[in-house]
Amino acid sequence: MPQQKMNMTTKILIWMGCGLVVGSLINAFASEVAFIQDYLVNGLFHVVGALFISALKMLVVPLVTFSLICGVCGIGDINTLGRVGIKAFLLFMLTTALAITLAITVAVVVAPGEGFDMQTAGQAEFTAPAAPPLTQVIIDLVPTNPIAAYADGNMLQIIFFTILFAICVLMVGERGRSIAQGAEKLNDVMMEVVNVVMLVAPIGVFALMAKTFSLQGLGLILPMISYFGVVAVVLVLHMTGTLMILLKLLGRVSPLMFLKKMRTAQIFAFSTSSSNATIPVTLRSVEKRLGVDNSTASFVVPFGATINMDGTAIMQGVATVFIANVYGIDLGISGYLTVIGMAVLASIGTAGVPGVGLIMLAMVFNQVGLPVEGIALIMGVDRLLDMMRTAVNVTGDAAITTIVAKAENKISMETFNDPAAGQIEEVHLPHEAPLPEK
Ligand code: ASP
Repeated sequence: MPQQKMNMTTKILIWMGCGLVVGSLINAFASEVAFIQDYLVNGLFHVVGALFISALKMLVVPLVTFSLICGVCGIGDINTLGRVGIKAFLLFMLTTALAITLAITVAVVVAPGEGFDMQTAGQAEFTAPAAPPLTQVIIDLVPTNPIAAYADGNMLQIIFFTILFAICVLMVGERGRSIAQGAEKLNDVMMEVVNVVMLVAPIGVFALMAKTFSLQGLGLILPMISYFGVVAVVLVLHMTGTLMILLKLLGRVSPLMFLKKMRTAQIFAFSTSSSNATIPVTLRSVEKRLGVDNSTASFVVPFGATINMDGTAIMQGVATVFIANVYGIDLGISGYLTVIGMAVLASIGTAGVPGVGLIMLAMVFNQVGLPVEGIALIMGVDRLLDMMRTAVNVTGDAAITTIVAKAENKISMETFNDPAAGQIEEVHLPHEAPLPEK
């Protein structure tokens, strides 16, 4: 009799829900109990969650490298590579601009922060960390030392060097063939490592959720409910509206199927708050579940994780209107246009890691003359919003990858339309290790 197995996404989702409940209960009833705080929250949950994030990050650099070499060699032609890159770049900028425009429009209509009581928000301090100027971002695209770029996990530099390297593998012709084949095998192995790490995902996700919610609780949201609510609503509108319309119009694929298959990556993004750490899962979902060819996915997904941040742009749009309302500052149309331009540019130079949205917000505030200290007001709810917006960031990366792949005829619609394609199976070690062929 075939055994009815629960699929991995459902399993992760259930553990995630359990983590949320356990964390919230601890926050509500046991925040003063030293034993629980020391051994569970800062002990077990912290260690397991941190191990899980490290395991994910461990995969990013080797996976992106081998996958990108395969991708470039698979495209096999510099013109096509340039075309894919330009299409992806323009679409990333377009979705970010649409996201923040929608956010500002909704926020101006709802007007969160009007009549806001400063006293209830607590008096957290915010000192703006330095953000790199655009000129430096451009200069930094080229690594002075590729090994250092790999060691630091600097994604744009890694992408730049790996693409250049892979193009040269193509250029040396026959002699480069074994390198391309080697990269292909290494890429297969790394994909298998992703599968193995995914097997412990339910526990990792549980620990991350339990820790975050036992420290944060849901009560923090209350004084900030108008700001939180507007960001959350616009995030949902963008993910289920704008992105899906683009998928339908430009990609001519089923948005529902897309969303269904992106669920695992969204859960990972939500629990890790990092598009970068989620790259292995996004790549896996886009290639194995949506059927996008490695030649497109290997390039567009990590590129998107670094430069495309729709969810973050939405937070910035709403935060700008909110803080302007709280301080009674009228930004006017030109102010808002500057915010849109700045948010789009800021997303290029900042990597997809937790909390980076606040740094970008400081850049935007400086530019339009809003008080940067105002960011202290929204910091309390930022952890939760970071989780939500990262899920939207990752969805945007995958949506654009799908649209570009469709335009380039690099997607298998059979895989895309097969609901079961690429689901994670249990990994079984072969009884006897297959011997390498002589
Ligand atoms: N955590 C987000 C990401 O990794 C960036 C941010 O909004 O802070 O995509």
